[in-house]
Formats: sequence, C-alpha cells, structure tokens
Amino acid sequence: MTADIAGCKAALAHLDLDDNPATVKQKSRDFFWYSPVLKARMDHLTADFVVTPRNEAEVIEALAAAYAHDVPVTTRGSGTGNYGQAMPLSGGMVLHLKALDRVLKIAPGRVVAQAGAILSEIDKATRADSGQELRLHPSTYNTASIGGFVAGGSGGVGSIRWGGLRDAGNIIRLRLITCEASPRVIELTGDAIHKASHAYGVNGIITEVEAPLAPAYDWVDVLVGFDDWRAANAYAYALAHQDGVLLKELATVAAPAGHAYFLRHRKFIAPGQHLAILSVAPQSLDAVLTLTARDKGAAVLFRADRDATEGLPPAYELGWNHTTLRALRVDPEITYLQVLYDRQVLDKVTTLSGQFPDELIGHVEYVRFDGRIVGMGLPMVRFTSEARLDEIIRVHEENDCPIFNPHRYTLEEGGMKQSDPLQLSFKRETDPKGLLNPGKMIAWDDPDYDFSSGKLYLFPGMAAAE
Ligand code: FAD
Repeated sequence: MTADIAGCKAALAHLDLDDNPATVKQKSRDFFWYSPVLKARMDHLTADFVVTPRNEAEVIEALAAAYAHDVPVTTRGSGTGNYGQAMPLSGGMVLHLKALDRVLKIAPGRVVAQAGAILSEIDKATRADSGQELRLHPSTYNTASIGGFVAGGSGGVGSIRWGGLRDAGNIIRLRLITCEASPRVIELTGDAIHKASHAYGVNGIITEVEAPLAPAYDWVDVLVGFDDWRAANAYAYALAHQDGVLLKELATVAAPAGHAYFLRHRKFIAPGQHLAILSVAPQSLDAVLTLTARDKGAAVLFRADRDATEGLPPAYELGWNHTTLRALRVDPEITYLQVLYDRQVLDKVTTLSGQFPDELIGHVEYVRFDGRIVGMGLPMVRFTSEARLDEIIRVHEENDCPIFNPHRYTLEEGGMKQSDPLQLSFKRETDPKGLLNPGKMIAWDDPDYDFSSGKLYLFPGMAAAE
C-alpha cells in the first residue's frame, strides 16, 4: 500500500492545509524529548502535511480522502503528550483538531465539548455558567485539549478524589469518526468508551467528549516541608485517608528537587527539605492546617489562594509531569519513571530511594485507585545509559512495583505489556486499512510480538534512526 500524498493533498486543497516543511515538522512533534530513549529515535520524524479541520464535516472529509489515497493520519490535540503518541511514524497527514474548540453544552454535572477545546477554557465556561469544573485534568491544564487527554492521558489533578480517566464514570460519552471510504460517526457510552479512551487515536478520531463536572472551588495551594522523606509520605498518606477533607492535588517530592528545581518557589524551601504539595478546598483548609500542626515533623512553607499566587505557578504545575519538566530545565540529565507503589507506598519509596541514592529523586502522586488510596510514583532519574535505566526498572519490578514505561511510544509497552483485545477489534471495525496513527499498536502490526523481550519495538518508520 503506497500513500498517494499528492492526490490526498489535491483532494483537500480547499481545507486549511499546510505543507510548509518547517511548520509541518513542528506539528509532528510532542514532548517525546522528555525521554532520552525516545529523543534518540524519534527526532527525525515528520508528516507530509497538516490539515486543520474547522468542523466535524471537514474531519470526515479529511478521513475519507486519507482512506481513498492510503495516507496515514496522526491526530493532534495540543501535542503535549510525552511518549511520542502524537508523532507520525510513517509520514502522511497530521490532523490538527485545534479549531474544534467549542463548548457545546453545560448542564448540572456534565459538559459537552469539542475534542480540540483546551481544558482550562472548558473550566472557564463551566465556572462562569454554573460554578462547576472538570473533575480531572492533567498538569498541562492550560495547553492540553480534552480529546488529547481522553486519547493520550491517564489522570492527574483531581485523581486524589476521582481516580483515573479510565475509571467508570469519569468519561460519559465520546463521539468518534471512523477512517473508511465513507467515514461513520459512532457514539460510545458505558463500557464501550474503553474502546477509544487511551487508544492514541488508532481506532477513530474523537470529535466530541461529554465529561462529568464537580463543584468548582477557589483551591488553596499549600506546600508543607519535612526533614525526612518517609515522614513526608506518612503525612500525605494519612491526609489522603481523611474522608472529610477535600483535596484536588496531593503529592510528595524529595529533596533536593524543591529547592533545586522549583525556581520560583525556592525562596520558601530550604535545600534539604522534602515537600508535600497540596491543593485544598477552602472549606477544608482549617482541617488541613490543624492536622499539619499535629505532625511534629511538618512545617507549612507556603500557602496561597490559587488566584493570588503573585506570578507563582499553581501547585499542580509542581506536580505530575511538571515536576520532571522543572527538573529538566535545570538539569538536562534528568528523566523519570512511572511506578505503582500501591498501598505499600511508605516502605517501597524508602527502600527504592535507598537503593539508588545518587540516581533517584522521589516523587509520589497520591491517587484513588479502585476506591483505595495508593501511591503512583513519578521518580526522577539521573540518566546515564539505557542499560542503567533498564536495570533500575528491573529492580523496581523485582520489588513488586510495576513500571508503566514512559520511554516507549506504543500502547502496549507503555502500559500493561499486553494488547487490549477490545481496542484491537474496534480498530478492525473503524480503521480497516490501518491508517490511523500507524505503529502505535503492536498487536495490529505483529500479533505474535514477544513483550517479554523487554526490547523497544521498532516500527519500520523508525528504522532511520537505528
Ligand atoms: P496530544 O499530545 O495532541 O495527543 C495525545 C494522543 O492522543 C496522541 O496519540 C494523539 O494522536 C491522540 N489524540 C489527540 N486528540 C485526539 C482525538 N481528538 N481523537 C483521537 N486521538 C486523539 N498526562 C496526564 O494524563 N496527566 C498529567 O498530569 C500530565 N501532565 C503532563 C505534564 C507535562 C509537563 C507534560 C509535557 C505532559 C503531561 N501529560 C499528562 C501528558 C499530556 O499533557 C496529557 O495527556 C494531555 O492531556 C494530552 O493532551 P493533548 O491535547 O496535548 O494531546
């Protein structure tokens, strides 16, 4: 199957189509460079052209033309994914959804938005309409699209209360377009949502998301300091279990990260101090301060209403992948891992930090997982070589701490290291020619792939870098 790029471009010439190599390259990139492993292999990748549809009818037109001319399609929201999810592995079209940015409907407990709408813009509309906000958002709240979050993200700010994006109830409905001769519109609800959520756009293009809302609050950001890393986590773990306290964010970050990397907050943080990072509903602030005062090792370092932080970034931009982003800006050798410490978090973080004292800097996000509070680690790692990174991963796995590898661009290798039969069979229905984000679902290309090899899967489009 050879892509007829010229034919596809000619068919779509009346749409917003850009084939300037510089801008096409820019729109073919995401935050893949976070990972030294991906950076070395994906830097050269680019699409042939970018189409920016103005409405759903133009999405359908673009997909019909791609199908007719055998052209691969990689969908882009805002390109803030950090596993290379939005990078075209074999050229073709980038379908940029930024112009599908309208909030279509707001009702008690729910919002319907077009897929390209930016998360913080959705919240502006729902706050103004009825004092409501999205339950969950990534720390890229101000730049990421809701379609990109659903297709490429997993959870984030709000997960301490509401769990992950794929937990039942956190997405109400998706509207999606297939890549066929005559693209179909499919509405997914209930369990069927999992066919396309966190599927990197390999089995349909999401044009609309219906998401649940929660009451909006003027969240108060609080930083609490500790001299001891285990004590910081014991405080956070206990606080997370206080059912009467409403939090939107709860994380811990080990020294020296706070003082060394959080440059705009460093005046509040001593060099050896470990941090708990909180966003608290105003009505829960007294309770949090009372509990904090009871903890002999804890000291409130900083506290501010979200809207009165005087130019400081909000607390959630110190957490999630923003922790690593801030570290990378100071120390380009830093990368990170994603670890499930589960409920053994206190013992695991202490043991594993102890095993790699010069290489790991602890970072734990506290989240609700199947109704229980668990620690999800995003420890920063001083990168020396891929072999050493693999060794650190191996030691975590030996300690019963599963790794969700952020140095892999495929669905399977970054996740459960097995294919998702639901997503695969849906792809057969929605993308019979395999044109949507090729190379991101190993099960489609190689059903017999051996995940136990531990080696990075190399799609043919990647070979140039090897
Ligand atoms: P993109 O990067 O454009 O796309 C992501 C994936 O979804 C790609 O595979 C793309 O092809 C596909 N896609 C995009 N739109 C659609 C669509 N409409 N239909 C079908 N497929 C589509 N992630 C989290 O989950 N939680 C976090 O807290 C978090 N923090 C981050 C912090 C930093 C500093 C960075 C760099 C990344 C972070 N991420 C986080 C990853 C990423 O920012 C989020 O997942 C974000 O929601 C992605 O949205 P986007 O619009 O940028 O998607």
